[in-house]
Amino acid sequence: MSNKLDIEATVLDNRLAGERTIAMELHCPGIAENISPGQFIMMGIPQKFLRRPFSVAGVNGNRILLLIRVVGEGTQIISSMRRNQKLKILGPLGNPFPKISGRKILVAGGIGIAP
Ligand SMILES: Cc1cc2nc3c(=O)[nH]c(=O)nc-3n(C[C@H](O)[C@H](O)[C@H](O)COP(=O)(O)OP(=O)(O)OC[C@H]3O[C@@H](n4cnc5c(N)ncnc54)[C@H](O)[C@@H]3O)c2cc1C
Repeated sequence: MSNKLDIEATVLDNRLAGERTIAMELHCPGIAENISPGQFIMMGIPQKFLRRPFSVAGVNGNRILLLIRVVGEGTQIISSMRRNQKLKILGPLGNPFPKISGRKILVAGGIGIAP
């Protein structure tokens, strides 16, 4: 059975985290508690028909952290979102990273570091 949810999340924080990159924290109950490393969410954006996918970079209780690089119109709109604004979030989606024992090596490029 899928534990996927489609909820209205609340923006808790949205700050610049680097060049053209923002760190967005969302109150995301039901999704945050069930998401695993490597999974992503689909975010509904005001004025945009299609949702945009973003990997979850961190979880703290019922909050999720996203690292978002501003590349086009949708991410530009997301970067202007402020505390207490609402966003539609669908997730958890995708396959989590496999659990492996022993030594682990992490390799990522650019915003691919998020998950
Ligand atoms: C599973 C998954 C996880 C992801 N996780 C993350 C993440 O954690 N963080 C993150 O920052 N991103 C992530 N992405 C990428 C992110 O979803 C996209 O960067 C985002 O959807 C772009 O939306 P946008 O509306 O800003 O850009 P769009 O407007 O959709 O544009 C996308 C790209 O196309 C270019 N483009 C647009 N229109 C044109 C045109 N007419 N001619 C030429 N080029 C054009 C833009 O410059 C841009 O580079 C992920 C993607 C996937 C599939």
